[in-house]
Amino acid sequence: MAFPVPLRKNLSSLKPYIPGKPIEELERELGIKNASKIASNENPLGPSPKVLQALEKALSKISRYPDGGAHNLSQALSKYLGVTADRIILGQGSNELLVLLGQMVLNPGDEVIYAEPGFIIYPLVAQLFEAKPCPVALKDFTHDLKAFADALTPKTRLVYICNPNNPTGTTVPLLAVEAFLKICPSDVLVVLDEAYYEYVEEKTYFESLRITEKYPNLVVLRTFSKAFGLAGLRIGYGIARPELAEVFQKTRRPCNVNSLALVEAEAALTDIPHVKKVTELNSRMRTKLREGLKGLGLNPALTQANFVYFEIPKAPELYQQLLQKGVIIRPMGPNALRVTTGTEQETENFLKVFEEILMSSGVQKAK
Ligand code: PMP
Repeated sequence: MAFPVPLRKNLSSLKPYIPGKPIEELERELGIKNASKIASNENPLGPSPKVLQALEKALSKISRYPDGGAHNLSQALSKYLGVTADRIILGQGSNELLVLLGQMVLNPGDEVIYAEPGFIIYPLVAQLFEAKPCPVALKDFTHDLKAFADALTPKTRLVYICNPNNPTGTTVPLLAVEAFLKICPSDVLVVLDEAYYEYVEEKTYFESLRITEKYPNLVVLRTFSKAFGLAGLRIGYGIARPELAEVFQKTRRPCNVNSLALVEAEAALTDIPHVKKVTELNSRMRTKLREGLKGLGLNPALTQANFVYFEIPKAPELYQQLLQKGVIIRPMGPNALRVTTGTEQETENFLKVFEEILMSSGVQKAK
């Protein structure tokens, strides 16, 4: 039976976000125990031991509501980032921030610009608030910010720049972002999504926080889900000018970040050497993945994140065949796959199994 209450316009055509297949589900289906999931850009080393130590103390306080003002974490982040606490916003993952920022500025008929292929949540946010999704094609797997500028219209209210881009992992230099901001009208909110910030090594990338001071319509988003290993707790943050942060406080739900997430994020910030360990492993594994894929005749994008994207015919079939071998990756439409870096063993196993599948399936290799 269909839901009887008329839905908000656009909602009936909205397709739900499909997360990566859970590892337990695949193990149940195949009756195996050692499946590997390198699909959702998670951290194969997990969080710092300091996070686990803090958990016990935090658990004893879960009968209390969280600190709605998130005082301790805001102070810790302020110190870590070198920005005042009144410029920080917190969300239930940066995902919640993406939605709340959309809710803050979008009216029906407004336009939302983002890159395609890009993070699937951006068009979903546009649709949710009855705005028009305006995708701009990537150029050489990378954001084309000149084309973004051409796509601006008087109706544009929100622009997402995903840097590094999910799913391709490519970065745009900060200078290019700033060149775009210079010509972008100030009544357009620009969301610079840096979910994979910690993994980047490219020198031209850094220092976006510095430019948030100059542009009142800019917000930079980061997360504890990836390099800090707290994806399950759902906590992310944003940095903007205090004016934006002040308006944001009106749109969020009271106590939107739970008490365990607040304590654990604070603990995670005390162990930056752990993050370094994570990013060093990632750097080696993404090189291994890219080299391995190139050895199979493929052309993986030049990633700076914790995943590798490549185009290949019959991607959904290859995804299914990998599932049968206990390996979960992510199909990206009919002609591309995205693989997250795993442990050394997971990464090597993927390359081995994938080569076997390609050999036996006769899928034509990309150039
Ligand atoms: N932005 C990008 C580009 C992402 O890939 C993700 C996670 N897949 C998010 C934001 C959201 O991450 P979280 O809500 O876990 O912080």
